Amino acid sequence: MKKTAFLNDEWCYWHSTGLYAGILPVGSWVQVPSGASHAESPETKRRLRNLLDVSGLLKQMESLSAEAATDEDLLRIHPQHYLDEFKKVSDAGGGAFGIEAPIGPGSYEIAKLSAGLACAAVEKVYTGEFQNAYSLSRPPGHHCLPDQAMGFCFLANIPVAIERAKAKFGLGKVVVIDWDVHHGNGTQHIYYDRDDVLSISLHQDKCFPPGYSGDTDRGEGKGEGYNINIPLYAGCGHEAYLYAFENIVIPAIDQFKPEMIIVACGYDANGLDPLARMLLHSDSFREMTRLTKQAAEKHCDGKLVIVHEGGYAESYVPFCGLAVVEELTGHKTSVEDPCKDLINEQEQAEAFQNFQKQRIDELTEYFGFK
Ligand code: ZN
Repeated sequence: MKKTAFLNDEWCYWHSTGLYAGILPVGSWVQVPSGASHAESPETKRRLRNLLDVSGLLKQMESLSAEAATDEDLLRIHPQHYLDEFKKVSDAGGGAFGIEAPIGPGSYEIAKLSAGLACAAVEKVYTGEFQNAYSLSRPPGHHCLPDQAMGFCFLANIPVAIERAKAKFGLGKVVVIDWDVHHGNGTQHIYYDRDDVLSISLHQDKCFPPGYSGDTDRGEGKGEGYNINIPLYAGCGHEAYLYAFENIVIPAIDQFKPEMIIVACGYDANGLDPLARMLLHSDSFREMTRLTKQAAEKHCDGKLVIVHEGGYAESYVPFCGLAVVEELTGHKTSVEDPCKDLINEQEQAEAFQNFQKQRIDELTEYFGFK
């Protein structure tokens, strides 16, 4: 019996952002990027799946697709008028939709499928069919607000999945750890006044949404204290992230005692990403997964779901994702990360600097974990 489910579907690669590219304001001064050159292209995800395949790791998991999220699922988070508008633009062949959120033909249906994969992952783990799961969702979801697409996200995949499991099975307390390098603003917004979902975001300070740090945004009403933002300075690497994990993320989970842990797993904090300035490598993602899995074993019978978010270095995301899946399944492949030394050398030059450590120490104290 395989213990890890891998949710994926060919359609997810067909969501097109390239037709409405223009991520960089090149104007008329340099050649316009070729068709598929939007940062959020299918390549990072397809290549991850390909690496899982050729490394033999895919065989260690149950590879499955799922039904698209239903209107009932989506309406728990998104208002009808937003879904109607999304479908209208998608049916018309796509275009600019929301803030930095271009879509192509069929994106509405593909986004529903992407959310459906996350729903199935949560369901299969919560009901005990699988120990843990990886959902290769695309388009991603963590920036999406109930009525506003943004940052390449159109449906709030993880909240849609959580709310479905709550409605269907009575899922209780959930921790969402968002280690995408950009702030998990959608998840924060949706759960800001609730105490049943602890939202923790580690992100590059002031990166996206532009200028946002969020360390003093702790939730409101019943949700006060159930929202944790860990804005890290640009240039943080392996040691800084693990230090933040050990001092804030893990103690927060220990205090909250969840029934399930879900990771909004972006890979854009890696040292080769074009949309951020952090210095993680594959072993950093491996270690964060190991610590998260350990916490899940301690509190919730190992119930852990990883949902793919950002990550834009086409040739490097696959190695970071492979490390996550190796930890998830407990199977090590013979694949070696060809870029780790390169990133490590940069990081040694930077090291874990005092001002970075001081920032995390201040946050640890502010959150009351010291
Ligand atoms: Zn991101």
